[in-house]
Amino acid sequence: MRVKCVLCDKIEQLDDQLPLAKKLRNRPIHTYMCETCHERIKVQTEGRQSQTAE
Ligand SMILES: [Zn+2]
Repeated sequence: MRVKCVLCDKIEQLDDQLPLAKKLRNRPIHTYMCETCHERIKVQTEGRQSQTAE
């Protein structure tokens, strides 16, 4: 299935067998994030958390 990243609008092909693809099919509202954006968000979140901890 084709999915569009909510952050950068990049269209990607997702393997229909992936659990994520099934989830997106069942819930069209569920948003997809590409690998790049996902990593970026993760790094930002982790950075914030470590700053708060200090
Ligand atoms: Zn993206």
